[in-house]
Amino acid sequence: MFAVDKAERAVSRHTEELVPSRYALQVGEIDVLIVSDGVLPLPTATMATNATPDDLANWLDYMFMPRDAFDWPLNVMVARSGAQTILVDTGLGSQFSGFPRAGQFPQRLKAAGIALDTVTDVIITHMHMDHVGGLLADGVKEQLRPDVRIHVAAAEVEFWDAPDFTQTVMPTPVPPVLRSTAASFLKEYRSKLRIFKDQYQVAPGVVVRLTGGHTPGHSVVDLTSEGERLTFAGDAMFPVAFDHPEWQNGFEHDPEESTRVRLGLFRELAENGGLLVASHLPFPSVGRVAVDGDAFRYVPVIWDF
Ligand SMILES: [Zn+2]
Repeated sequence: MFAVDKAERAVSRHTEELVPSRYALQVGEIDVLIVSDGVLPLPTATMATNATPDDLANWLDYMFMPRDAFDWPLNVMVARSGAQTILVDTGLGSQFSGFPRAGQFPQRLKAAGIALDTVTDVIITHMHMDHVGGLLADGVKEQLRPDVRIHVAAAEVEFWDAPDFTQTVMPTPVPPVLRSTAASFLKEYRSKLRIFKDQYQVAPGVVVRLTGGHTPGHSVVDLTSEGERLTFAGDAMFPVAFDHPEWQNGFEHDPEESTRVRLGLFRELAENGGLLVASHLPFPSVGRVAVDGDAFRYVPVIWDF
């Protein structure tokens, strides 16, 4: 399991928070840590662009959620397999001042006793700022090893050369920051990219695979070890998706393909019984998927502490 050594404990005493921001589990022999990057307050309409306002309002009431805006959780995963330490996404960073409660991943990673210079690989599910921004935060690049490998799908790198936002519905200030953050990421890290086409085994039992949908190069990460499995689904699903998998999200560059990808992953997870973790499900976002009539049900794991 991930253990905090003495020196790090002394450091973390200064950064200790009352509410835990990390959750550790094991998938067979793979050590997994889910770290919260914080939350992003967004208009609720963003999560259901093709729902009627009444249907969305009813769902929000049913979930005891406010009708206008709600906090999207933002989760990052760390996996250790063999000699490799792998980050799966990196949080928001500090590119965008509109989300002051997110961007906490670098300091929370440090507080968890994981030094950036021990990271051998980074997997990027897609190049939206809440997934690559942490790599652009102050001092992060300098602490990373010069030989760190950053895995991203070829289709994703290609997409951000001339990204298409025509099918998205985002708050006005967001698209330009998404464009500039993706461009900065490519500028800073192009020489470290390890580009894959359909799928790639990053470490024993750690495979990244292209799904497309949310962005053309959107990918998920499968961990499998000793008969256990966990899928980090990135932005293939949001909290509303279990009850309404057909509701489209404003951040999806291809909403119809996103729905197909989401349904495929839900069915796959319901079938194989593996664990699901997703970027924007409530922390620690570790659970399973069950079929529930025409929709699905999220079954959180019992906090093992
Ligand atoms: Zn996201």
